[in-house]
Amino acid sequence: MSDNAINVDPKEIAKFEELASRWWDLNSEFKPLHDINPLRVGYIDSIASLEGKRVIDIGCGGGILSESMVQRGASVTGIDLGEAPLKVAQLHGLESGLHVDYQKISAEQIAEQQPASFDVVTCMEMLEHVPDPSSIVQACAKLVKPGGHVFFSTINRNPKSYLFAIVGAEHILNLVPKGTHDFKKFIKPSELGNWIRNSQLKIENMTGMTYNLINKEYQLTPSDLSVNYIIACKY
Ligand code: SAH
Repeated sequence: MSDNAINVDPKEIAKFEELASRWWDLNSEFKPLHDINPLRVGYIDSIASLEGKRVIDIGCGGGILSESMVQRGASVTGIDLGEAPLKVAQLHGLESGLHVDYQKISAEQIAEQQPASFDVVTCMEMLEHVPDPSSIVQACAKLVKPGGHVFFSTINRNPKSYLFAIVGAEHILNLVPKGTHDFKKFIKPSELGNWIRNSQLKIENMTGMTYNLINKEYQLTPSDLSVNYIIACKY
């Protein structure tokens, strides 16, 4: 990808624009993000101690993760390229009183403007929606201060993740709309690991997030990265 070509798939942005009004509806297409949020914010906080930290949330959407990091005492900037999700995020912040600095800008652009400026960078459930995820990983490495943390989460690519994230979630349980995810864009931990190492970040920890079909709850499962997973890195 050349430096001035913008790393975005307009069809992906349109999908999230269309659903944006339901972002904070706990029973909507965004239920899975609400369900995993306490787990992921707890994981981030346990590694990076959010209190008093300067954080940037890349691909923040309607602000579910961004707001929860403000609740943990961080000062948060949230960026996305979707207009409608950012508007919803802004309005929700007024209601909740949890202030996030939302901006419509690409990760690569803000990394040019504000290199080495954030203690913590989060990029969750977003890499599988962009044309060149490695460029986002590089931008995240550029945004973080020396000694800071970067967190990525995405979906693994294998027969089990096809079954759970596409067939199960989109076709059987109707947890998210059909077409939310494109299996080909799922990312193996080894692929993400290579992009991370190429961007001079060091992997510090990894965990899976698994969905229990019986009690319909997610949990952190460090030994099982087969579907949803998070990688914590240090710069
Ligand atoms: N990170 C949030 C939202 C995940 S949904 C959370 O986990 O709660 C994916 C988000 O990525 C959407 O809001 C979508 O608009 C955004 N997105 C997709 N491609 C993007 C790009 N190239 N740059 C910035 N944001 C992007």
